[in-house]
Amino acid sequence: MSVTLTSSITLGNRFARELPELAVDWQAEKFPDPRLLVLNELLAVDLGFDPAWLRTPQGVRLLVGSAVPDGATPVAQAYAGHQFGGYVPRLGDGRALLLGEVTDAEGRQRDLHLKGSGRTPFARGGDGLAAVGPMLREYVVSEAMHALGVPTTRSLAVVATGQRVLRETALPGAVLSRVASSHLRVGTFQYARDTGDVDLLRRLADCAIERHYPAAAGSERPYRALFEAVVAAQASLVARWMLLGFVHGVMNTDNMTISGESIDYGPCAFIDSFDPDTVFSSIDHGGRYAYGNQPLVAEWNLARFAETLLPLLDEDRERAVELAVESLERYGHQYSDAWSAGMRAKLGLPDGLDTAIGDALVEDLLRLLRHGRVDWTGFFRAMGAAARGDTQLARSLFHDLAAFDTWAEQWRAVGPDADSMDRVNPVYIPRNHLVEGALTAATDGDLDPVLRLLEAVSSPYVERPGLERYAEPAPEDFGTYQTFCGT
Ligand code: AMP
Ligand code: MG
Repeated sequence: MSVTLTSSITLGNRFARELPELAVDWQAEKFPDPRLLVLNELLAVDLGFDPAWLRTPQGVRLLVGSAVPDGATPVAQAYAGHQFGGYVPRLGDGRALLLGEVTDAEGRQRDLHLKGSGRTPFARGGDGLAAVGPMLREYVVSEAMHALGVPTTRSLAVVATGQRVLRETALPGAVLSRVASSHLRVGTFQYARDTGDVDLLRRLADCAIERHYPAAAGSERPYRALFEAVVAAQASLVARWMLLGFVHGVMNTDNMTISGESIDYGPCAFIDSFDPDTVFSSIDHGGRYAYGNQPLVAEWNLARFAETLLPLLDEDRERAVELAVESLERYGHQYSDAWSAGMRAKLGLPDGLDTAIGDALVEDLLRLLRHGRVDWTGFFRAMGAAARGDTQLARSLFHDLAAFDTWAEQWRAVGPDADSMDRVNPVYIPRNHLVEGALTAATDGDLDPVLRLLEAVSSPYVERPGLERYAEPAPEDFGTYQTFCGT
C-alpha cells in the first residue's frame, strides 16, 4: 500500500468537539531542550508521518507537545476510576494530553497522545511529568506486546525533555507519544455516568460504537451489543496476557480500555515461572492484581462498566440489570474458551483431540511447571524442539525428570505440531532483568541496550543467532523483581 508521508501533521479534534464535557483544552509544558531518544519509524509511516521530518527540531517539538499540529485542539481527558477497588470520581489525564486523531494507512482513526507533558487541571498532587525509564518501559513493552499479537496501544516516540524530574532521586524527564485506537476507558464511562447527564452518556456510547464496534449500531439493542462486544474483547485480551505470562500490575478501571487494547504500562512484568500469586508491583500489597487474579479482576471491572450503561440498556431499571447480568455471564465462558484454546495451541495439540485428554494434559503440565518453578516462556519454546523429537532442552528445565518424562510421553502420543507451536510460543519477551538493565543504562545516557532489546522483542517468534541472551531466564542473583508505579 502506498501512503503519502507528510511533514506537516494534521490532526482531527473530534473527541474535543463531540464530547466537550470530557475534555479540557490544555497545552503541554514548554520544554526548551527536547532530544529524541527513540522513534518508531514503521508506526510513523503507518500513520502517514514522515520519519525524517519527525527527527527534525520541528518534528521533535511536536512529539514533546511544544508545537501544536495543524487543526489540533489538545485536551486533557476526564475520567473516573476504581483504584485498587476504591472509587475516585475524578482522575483524568493528570500528566497527559490527547493531541488529536489521525487516520492511518488502513483508514482507521487513531489517537495521538502525550504522556509526561506537564501538569493539567487533573494533576492533583502530581508534577505532571514522567521519567525516561518508565516511558521507555512503556515503549518497549507495548511494542513487544504488539509484535506478540496482543491488541495494545502503540508507542511512536520517547523524547527526553532536558529537564530533571524529582522522584526518589532526580531523574531525566521524558515524554512518550502514544497511539491508540482510542483512549476511551471504563473510567470514562464512570465519569460520564456520574454527571447524571444521560445525553452525554449516550453520546459517549455512540462514539465508542462508531470507533470500535460499528456492527453494534445495527443491533436491536445497540448499547447492549456494545457491552457484549467489550466483554468479548476483554475476555480475549486477558486470555492472551495469561498465555504469555503478562502481569499488567494496575488493572484499575481507568486502565481498562473500551477498545480491548492493553493500556498504561506501569508496574507490568512477565512471570518467570508459573505461579498464580505472582505480584511485581511495589504498591500491590494485597495482590489484587496478581497474575492469577487478572481474569477475575477484568470481570469485576466489566461489572462496573455495566453499571454505567444501565440507563441506556432499558428504561426499566430491573430489566436493565437483568440484561447486563445476562451479558456479563458470557465473560467466564469466553475467557475459559480462549485460555483453553490458547493452551492447546501452545502445546501443539491437534484440532480433533478429545477435550478431556487435552484438558488433562494442560492441568497436569501446569502442576509440574508450578511445582518445578520452570521458566514459562523458555519451556514452551523448548517444547517445539521436543515435538520434533529433541527433548533435551525441555528436560534440562526440570528437576523431577521422571514426572516430566511421564507427562511428555503422553503428550508426544497425541502428535503435537511443532511448527504451529513455534508460531505461538515466543523466543524473546521483554524479560524483567533485560528491561531493568536497559532502562538503567538509558537513564545513564546509553540507549544501546534499549535499542537492542527492542530489536529482539520486535520479532519475538523468529529465533536469531547472536540473540541467545535475550532468550535466557534471569540470572539467579537477579532476585525477586519489583516494579514501581506513579513514575
Ligand atoms: P496511572 O496509575 O498511571 O494509571 O495514573 C493514575 C492517575 O494518576 C491518572 O489520573 C494520572 O493522570 C495521574 N498521574 C500519575 N502520575 C502523575 C503525575 N506525575 N502527575 C500528575 N498526575 C499523575
Ligand atoms: Mg492510567
